[in-house]
Amino acid sequence: MKRAGLLCAVMLIAASCATMSPPQGQDLVNRAVQAVGGAESLAKVKTVSVEGTVRQWEPEQSMAAGGEMRFACASTFALVTDVASGATRVDWVRNFQYPTARTFTFSEIVTSDAGYVAGIDSNGRTRQSLDSNPPAHSMSGLRLAASQRELRRGSTLLLLEMQKNPDRVSAVPDVTVGAATYPAVAYRAGDQTFTVMFDRATGLPARIRTLDYDNIWGDVTYDLVLSDWQTKDGLMTALSRTYELNGRPVMEVKTTNVKINAPIAADRFAIPAAFKAAASKPATGAVPYQWVIRRQFIGTYLDSDAVAYDAKATSGLRLVELAPGVQHVVGGSHNSLIVEMREYLVVFDAPVSDGTAKWIIEAARAKYPGKPVRYLVLTHHHMDHAGGVRAFAAQGATIITGKGTAEHFRRVLAVPFTRNPDLPSRDLKTTTVTEVTERQVFSDGTREVGGYVIDNPHSVGMIIGYVSDAKIAYVTDIWSPGAGPLPDKLTPPLAALVAGVKKAGVAPAKVAGGHGSVGDYAPLAALEGK
Ligand SMILES: [Zn+2]
Repeated sequence: MKRAGLLCAVMLIAASCATMSPPQGQDLVNRAVQAVGGAESLAKVKTVSVEGTVRQWEPEQSMAAGGEMRFACASTFALVTDVASGATRVDWVRNFQYPTARTFTFSEIVTSDAGYVAGIDSNGRTRQSLDSNPPAHSMSGLRLAASQRELRRGSTLLLLEMQKNPDRVSAVPDVTVGAATYPAVAYRAGDQTFTVMFDRATGLPARIRTLDYDNIWGDVTYDLVLSDWQTKDGLMTALSRTYELNGRPVMEVKTTNVKINAPIAADRFAIPAAFKAAASKPATGAVPYQWVIRRQFIGTYLDSDAVAYDAKATSGLRLVELAPGVQHVVGGSHNSLIVEMREYLVVFDAPVSDGTAKWIIEAARAKYPGKPVRYLVLTHHHMDHAGGVRAFAAQGATIITGKGTAEHFRRVLAVPFTRNPDLPSRDLKTTTVTEVTERQVFSDGTREVGGYVIDNPHSVGMIIGYVSDAKIAYVTDIWSPGAGPLPDKLTPPLAALVAGVKKAGVAPAKVAGGHGSVGDYAPLAALEGK
């Protein structure tokens, strides 16, 4: 009997082992806390100091539609966090490579209720930045919310926060990424949900995911991939951090120096009173995180609470009549052009977002009642000039794109966009997308408006627009008329424009820009041969 009892006990253990499930939910969090050094060690963290380098790429500024990502920026940074106050300061040296090479040196301070930038961080400067000496500005609520989210995602202390808030942790099914399958939990923080995936062998967090909206690819995943774990001051830290957009690496962070509890002077986190008072609170709800995060890779856009214009300096977008039936949409960081035909409208470019696109569509409807936007001509595929394509497609416009880009836009219009902050998701797969090989001229017997494909160094298949009777051309990115004086000689993009105008056989008197305002064409053409 004794022997049988023992056997039974062994069998019971074996049985319970066989049915014991792998760790789930809070167990995964507890295991990860242990793996990085334990709750006690994490609770003793008062300050974190990190130095490193960052490389960033923008997939939707590629030379060819759907082609290799554009390398945008290489930076060095020094980050310090004070845990008790929740304040973080990052000192940056950013060497932008695109659209032009330049270096910006600046500091960001992010607290729970305000964000601040000391120095110049973008060519697109808000009124406050321009008026401040030395240059500085309060962060928009959008940027503050995005910065807070990303600091939380990357923090050593996220696991401790999760352990302390088990009610906000829930078990989710394993997540497969490529060849790997990760046990995972969902963690709710404010109006954000992170999916935290764990390495099965070590228990350490491997990927931290959010579900975002991208103005080109609709519903996307954005993952922080953690690797190269090493012990620094008693805690495990991932020295290599890669951010993946739908599985493509868009940002690589290499940490070169990590210090826990090094003393940091309190004034390092001080936001000057005037900027603190003017600062927006963190935005909530449908924040366009990808636009706000990735526009900083390029360093040309506005840090504004309205994504398309400086909310503190202008009343917003407006129409400027360049000729009868030709309206330049200006007032923001990006422009477009509305051309009136006898029965319909042609619009050039759908910048930034569906919110901007909806404004353009409404303004066109009010100006020209009864005339629908029948054609949206996209000068090129970059996300800052095509990010509003869905709103035009949703109201039935045919999309006109340059050589080599139609298939790209058919794919773009086929993806779901349930997280679009500006437009309810719907099926846009049947949208007509027409590719222009050389030229497409719309004519209604009274007016001709054309799109002409030109060779240029900015993007494959770029189109310039031309309204024949008004002698007005529309050009994006290779010239921004009115944004600055002409150079002494033609730069490669300007030379491409002059050659393209010749090849198209058009004769513009004025050029309206996708950025900037309007300029005379003759002084530009006169630079040829100089
Ligand atoms: Zn562009």
